[in-house]
Amino acid sequence: MLEVEGLVAGYGGSPILRDVSVRLAAGEIVGLLGANNAGKTTLINCLSGIVQPMSGRIVFDGQDVTRATARERVELGIIQVPEGRLVFPEMSIRENLLLGGFCDRARPHRPAQMDKVLELFPRLKERLTQAAGTLSGGEQQMLAIGRGLMAEARILMLDEPSLGLSPLFVQYIFEIIDQLHKSGLTMLLVEQNLNLTLRHAQRCYVLERGHVAVEGEADLVRSDPRTRQAYLGL
Ligand code: ATP
Repeated sequence: MLEVEGLVAGYGGSPILRDVSVRLAAGEIVGLLGANNAGKTTLINCLSGIVQPMSGRIVFDGQDVTRATARERVELGIIQVPEGRLVFPEMSIRENLLLGGFCDRARPHRPAQMDKVLELFPRLKERLTQAAGTLSGGEQQMLAIGRGLMAEARILMLDEPSLGLSPLFVQYIFEIIDQLHKSGLTMLLVEQNLNLTLRHAQRCYVLERGHVAVEGEADLVRSDPRTRQAYLGL
């Protein structure tokens, strides 16, 4: 469904990602792991069109989207749930969700999609008129995921969904990720939490200082000594 080939990308002419190749098949959860500053967010930002790569190719569903705008990618269903949630704090939960479904493709289906999202997150349903900024971190993460689903994501890219959450909320968010997987959604899961990601993803890539150090089925990545080396910076 998504193929990234030889991606080089960075900031101000200095590359951060060096020759990164990644692929996702339809319906897979693929984990993107790595220590701080490995380049995980830079890669996800390249996929959503926020960062323009210096070279390489991004193909989604057979279509070259390397130079497509962020908006065009949203219309194709490439949806990012950003690190730190980035909900609109002054707006209500309902308004945040409606904004998620604002693209041309999703707008006509917003009422039905809203029902599905609220069924998935009953906690949001109870608080529809509440300002998003007053939600707890875990609830904001639910809202950020719900907002991504409102865009009728074909591939949902979750950037550190467990960051800063209590263990109970982390468990809940991963249960939701499993449910979405069962419904057939393709997901790229960017995480620092190695064990949790290896448990939920089918395949993983471990980024180390901008290049792919290890890749493969979750079990192989778990037992590969290079995975821990990449994490510990050895
Ligand atoms: P973390 O787990 O801490 O979020 P990461 O693996 O997502 O890290 P990135 O956020 O992609 O890593 O950052 C990789 C490198 O790119 C870092 O050295 C960072 O300082 C640099 N970087 C990120 N964004 C920018 C930017 N907008 N301008 C310049 N440098 C940046």
